[in-house]
Amino acid sequence: MFSLAIHGGAGTLPKQEMSTAMEAACRAALRAALLAGKDVLAGGGSALDAVTAAVSELENQDLFNAGKGSVFNAAGEHHLDASIMDGSNGEAGAVAAVQGIKNPVQLAREVMLHSPHVLLTGKGAEEFAATRNIPHTPESYFFTNRRYYQYLLARQQDEILLDHAQYSSPKGTVGAVARDVHGNLAAATSTGGMTNKKFGRVGDTPIIGAGTYANNHTCAVSCTGHGEYFIRQVVAYDVHCLMEYKGLSLKEACEYVVHDKLKKTGGEGGLIAISKHGEICLPFNSEGMYRASLNEQGEFFGIY
Ligand code: ASP
Repeated sequence: MFSLAIHGGAGTLPKQEMSTAMEAACRAALRAALLAGKDVLAGGGSALDAVTAAVSELENQDLFNAGKGSVFNAAGEHHLDASIMDGSNGEAGAVAAVQGIKNPVQLAREVMLHSPHVLLTGKGAEEFAATRNIPHTPESYFFTNRRYYQYLLARQQDEILLDHAQYSSPKGTVGAVARDVHGNLAAATSTGGMTNKKFGRVGDTPIIGAGTYANNHTCAVSCTGHGEYFIRQVVAYDVHCLMEYKGLSLKEACEYVVHDKLKKTGGEGGLIAISKHGEICLPFNSEGMYRASLNEQGEFFGIY
């Protein structure tokens, strides 16, 4: 049996401010991504292909802070981060601060499969993309009025905003975790980072162990939230370690990390995780987290 979980970012509008139309649009987008991953898994495909398909689908929507819908940085540009990890062999790939890449998760995957490196940044990553025949996408593709308005407001207030902070539209970073029918795990995460981010700031999303981690012996994890906290707490790897070294269950490990450790330091956000047995855990300590999952128990969609 296979399992799959996806997220569209931690944090959301308070329930009373969420319009029915917005909620329906988010659910439809999550459903499309879940189906993209499910199609791969149901056909006997790999967890790695499933998370790539699900995250690519979310990157192609302008609803989320990843790919097309990414936020603006302080220079008024889009610098995108993504990572992917294969739990079957411990291989990983990531890109940070890349421009003109429609699907950063696919470039991260190319880094993993076709370079001797794990993490490529900026211009170098874009040069590598060209060698892999990944076309340059014009900056205009990433322009959305909603994000531009958020950027102008953030700049006016001189604030660096998490996607779900004030003035924000309600949707964030995206990610997926999967277990395939062969028992292999994989995780992937993609983001535009934080609105008005400065000085080449990079969050947890492309950092293996912080925003993304997968290991067939324990779990696959994809995080979303205030990246600085997730980097300092090495969140995704911490969930793995609690299972590997302390023998905690997936649920115990996830809840401890998100509701105890992270929360005590002020780290707002959440994660999605799948165990080697296919159990799913979707904890968050923020107002909400766009999330969806499926396993033999059926499908689940949630925001609050
Ligand atoms: N973790 C992402 C970052 O800090 C943002 C998010 O998940 O919304 O770049």
